[in-house]
Amino acid sequence: MGVRRRNRSLVTTGSAALGVAVMALGVTQAAHAQTGDAAAGADAGSCRRHVALSFDDGPDNSGAAASPAYGTNALLDGLASRQVRATFFLIGRKVVNDPDAARRIRAAGHVIGNHTMNHRDMTLMTYEVAKQEVRQAQTVIKGATGATPTLGRSPFGRFNATVDRAFASVRLARSNWAVESYDWRPTATVAGVQETVLARVNEVDGTLASTGSAEGIIVLMHDNGVATAAAVPGIIDSLRAGGYCFGKMVPSRTFSEVNRGYAAVVPW
Ligand SMILES: [Zn+2]
Repeated sequence: MGVRRRNRSLVTTGSAALGVAVMALGVTQAAHAQTGDAAAGADAGSCRRHVALSFDDGPDNSGAAASPAYGTNALLDGLASRQVRATFFLIGRKVVNDPDAARRIRAAGHVIGNHTMNHRDMTLMTYEVAKQEVRQAQTVIKGATGATPTLGRSPFGRFNATVDRAFASVRLARSNWAVESYDWRPTATVAGVQETVLARVNEVDGTLASTGSAEGIIVLMHDNGVATAAAVPGIIDSLRAGGYCFGKMVPSRTFSEVNRGYAAVVPW
């Protein structure tokens, strides 16, 4: 249960004086909860490792009418309920179709990344065309949200030196991930996605720990996964129970072998 929700119920059942006191307490608790992961990051001993959740192919609420637990809006609600921020790699043409959803992502404080204009395999493009794909999406995202992405992700995670150069030409650091959730499969289930993410994060953590690396872990999921929005709150709870904190993706000059790109995970 979220701190805010608990306080709200207390306020409605308490006297006016108690309500004021509880609200004051609530502000402190909420502020603490919001900075909890950053505070834990400052204290290296209390944080097993930082994990960054990333969501590709949005904004997408196209299936929300059929299932309320589907899509970007449901995802944002789940993240907000756990006070976790993530990174959303948006597709330019989907931002054009649903700029309000893109703005909602921005307003919730998440990082917005560039997932190109049309989501086509960039390794099959010339440098000029690849650059155009990135540049158009950058313009559209900036226009809709006011955010200027500093991170990019190539469609299907496919990249080569030319693709990286195309992103860099628009001042974007291209990054992939360390953990693939396989949530894009039409047969994905809530339990299946949760188990996959948990198991893989622990596996990568073990590998990194064996070399003494403090590097963070980037997880790949999708706004339009059939089970994703329903799976995310449980994933967050389980990772927290396992001692992980949630971090922020930032550009890095160094190529990460773990996350397959030029991004690092830092405390918020
Ligand atoms: Zn994609």
